[in-house]
This record gives sequence, C-alpha cells and structure tokens, in this order.
Amino acid sequence: MYNRTRLLFLLLVLLWACGPQQTVQQPPAPSPVKVIAPSFNADSAYEYIRQQVAFGPRVPNSKEHVACAQYLFDKLKASTPNVVEQKGVVTTYDDVRLNIRNYIASFNPDKKNRVLLFAHWDTRPWADQDSDREREPIDGADDGASGVGVLLEIARQLSAKAPAIGVDIAFFDAEDWGAKGGGPESEDSYALGTQYWTRQPHIANYTANYGILLDMVGARNAQFRLEGFSSEQALYVVDKIWKSAAALGYSNYFLLEQGGYVTDDHVYVIRYGIPSIDIINSDKTTRSGFAPHWHTHQDSLSIIDPLTLKAVGQTLLEVIYNEGH
Ligand SMILES: [Zn+2]
Repeated sequence: MYNRTRLLFLLLVLLWACGPQQTVQQPPAPSPVKVIAPSFNADSAYEYIRQQVAFGPRVPNSKEHVACAQYLFDKLKASTPNVVEQKGVVTTYDDVRLNIRNYIASFNPDKKNRVLLFAHWDTRPWADQDSDREREPIDGADDGASGVGVLLEIARQLSAKAPAIGVDIAFFDAEDWGAKGGGPESEDSYALGTQYWTRQPHIANYTANYGILLDMVGARNAQFRLEGFSSEQALYVVDKIWKSAAALGYSNYFLLEQGGYVTDDHVYVIRYGIPSIDIINSDKTTRSGFAPHWHTHQDSLSIIDPLTLKAVGQTLLEVIYNEGH
C-alpha cells in the first residue's frame, strides 16, 4: 500500500487550525458492552505469525508462497467447512503474471447480516525502503503475516462460539507487488488480489454490512490513527471500533488522531460497494507515514508484540459479538 496525500492532510490541519471555528474532536464516551466476547488469545495469534514467517517470504510465484497457501487453507478449514479457494492470474505494473490465491472463510453463511474481515497474506518482493539488500524480499512479519495471524485466531474463536451475525474472513493475495513512490505509476498497482476478487467475488452478488482491513497490526507500540478513506467512507465503522478499543482500555494503540490517506485493499472493497476501514500502523515522524520497519528487513518476527495483537484482536471480537442483538 502507499500513502500519498499527506499534503492534503496537512492542508486540512492548517484549515482547522486557522479557521474561525476551531474543531476539536472529543473522545467518544465508552459504550456499554452488552455481550461478553471470548478472550482473544494473543499467543495463539503470535504463533500463526511465526508459522507464516517460517515459510520464508510469501512472494507470489515462489514455492514458499504455495506452501503457505496450503497452510492457510488447512488452518481455515480447521475452523469452518466453508472455505473458498480462489485461484487466478493477475498482471503486475512491471508486467509479471502472478498466480494468486485468495481465501474466503465463512461463518454463519446463511445470515444476511454480515461483516467482512480481511488482510493480505503475500509479502513484498523487495526491501525497497531499506539501505541494505534492497532487492531481497522481506519477512513481512508485520506487513502481511500480522493481519492474517489475528484473523486466524478470530476464526478459531468463531468456530468455538458462534456470533449472532455472519462473518467472512478473507485473505487476499498480491497486495504488495506495487510500484514504489506513490505517484501515478502506483495507481492500482497494489491490492491485485483484492481487485481480482471485486471483479469475481467468491459468491455472486456477495455483500456485507461493512468491512475491516487489518494491515500491519502486530508491531510493538503500534499507533492506529483514523485513516482518511476509512473516515470518509465508513465513519460509523471507525467510530464503532475506536469506541470499543477505548472501552477496553486500548486508547494507547487506537489514537483519536487523523492519519493519512492509504491506498490499501479496503479502497477496492469500498469501490465494490462495502463500506470499509483500514486498521493500519502509522507514524507521524517518518516521511512515508508508516513505521520505520515498513518495507525493510526490520519487518521481522522481532518487532511483533503480543500486546498489540491482543489490543486489535480483542477489540474486533468485542465488536463482532455485540453485533446482531
Ligand atoms: Zn506493504
């Protein structure tokens, strides 16, 4: 994914700061939790991340990618019989044909009232933000494996205790083979697996009430800010998640601050017609707007912290189990 409209945001801040009526967003009052959600097991999520990383970089067209695909399919199958494997071919911006696989697991498949949770599972073929070994693929412990690890643990919880609503968990492929830079060449070069799925959803006319994307949700002291497209297109979902996180005591991770606009998988799910948000680690001190390990070899298992996984996973479970009552 890439972050390209930070200037726009700066302008927005200036307008806010200079406008005649200064708008300060107040923290929302914690909403009472009606249903006790299961306890998210962060050690389990961590183990799912470790296992993905152990395959090596999951770069499309590699044998490590195929091996991890089988692992993901087996793991989802252990939680629900309703797993669709979608195989396809997409072409990258640099004209490489990739054999991709998307996985969609469904819980309570007959419920009309549904939520879509998603993450990308592939890893970037290059460490282009690194000053060392730039042409080698990254481990992608945070960028890729963390979102999948959290969702595999949520799948396990959903199989143990059915929620009142339907939930679909999608692992999309080929998010991260995009053009560096964030200029026009980057346009639509990321999220190829998600774009494939929006052209050919796993179920004809598939829809959900809303979607939540997890991307880079495992690093120590992660900071989740209000991503621009999420706030514009699905503010009520942002509100729901951030309120839930606050009620659980996770406001140190879920900050009530505007972040940048990130062109990520959720943008294509929004275009498809499902209002969606992106929970993504951001950093105000870097030029990219992402944490310093982004697209470098620092993105390894050593930066993953179970406390962050717990904050994200428990917040999601709280929201899911309180829906539909
Ligand atoms: Zn990435």
